[in-house]
Amino acid sequence: MPDWAWPIALAVLGLIFGSFIATVALRWPEGRSAMRGRSECDSCHKALRAHELVPLLSYAFQHGRCRACGAAIHPGHIAVEAAGMLVGVAAGLVAPGWEGVAGAVFGWLLLALAALDLAAFWLPNALTGLLALAGIVDGLFFDPGWLDRIVGGAIGFGLLYLVAFTYRHVRGREGLGGGDPKMFGGIGLWLGASMLAPVLLAASVTGLAVALAARISGREMGMTSRLPLGTLLAIAAFPAWLYQVGL
Ligand SMILES: [Zn+2]
Repeated sequence: MPDWAWPIALAVLGLIFGSFIATVALRWPEGRSAMRGRSECDSCHKALRAHELVPLLSYAFQHGRCRACGAAIHPGHIAVEAAGMLVGVAAGLVAPGWEGVAGAVFGWLLLALAALDLAAFWLPNALTGLLALAGIVDGLFFDPGWLDRIVGGAIGFGLLYLVAFTYRHVRGREGLGGGDPKMFGGIGLWLGASMLAPVLLAASVTGLAVALAARISGREMGMTSRLPLGTLLAIAAFPAWLYQVGL
């Protein structure tokens, strides 16, 4: 396959995965499975036909509305579809070939975790486990080396576990979700130990910027309101992979 074909192929895959991820993340908080039954309108539950399920294009042609009931389609659908596509394009451009495919898988797993954490404050063990496992498989073929990855996984998990443990004992309530240390450990298995500090810093700065923007726009955020750390870690970790591989 020529170099230019990788970003295109990964963009198409990214749209398909993005569409699936958005449906899962938006339905999960309502207790509805995305696996069961056919794709349907979130509002009137009419089953959608193939031409109504094309990522991005269906939304554009239907002006963001269901063709049967006219209800607005949740903008999360196009946001996650576009993000899935961007992950594929970026990975294919930075590393045309199988390393780019691996990087896109990293990005799509992060996207699924980010969307679920944002929608439901939830990082399922199955997904954080898959992230860690995929990082180990990636290490069979590509840089960084084993020692770096194993130390990264251990420090990533250990650090956030310690933060959660300390917070719980000092403040007497949960400050971090149980999935955050596992996710950060998985990120360490992908990127190695040296990338953990930049990723955590970028996630924190992003979180502060979001909180500041919320404050400026008049929405008060108290000390107890939780920002989904998993979403912030995902936003920071994929660019870190691009940077690391692009060097
Ligand atoms: Zn409808």
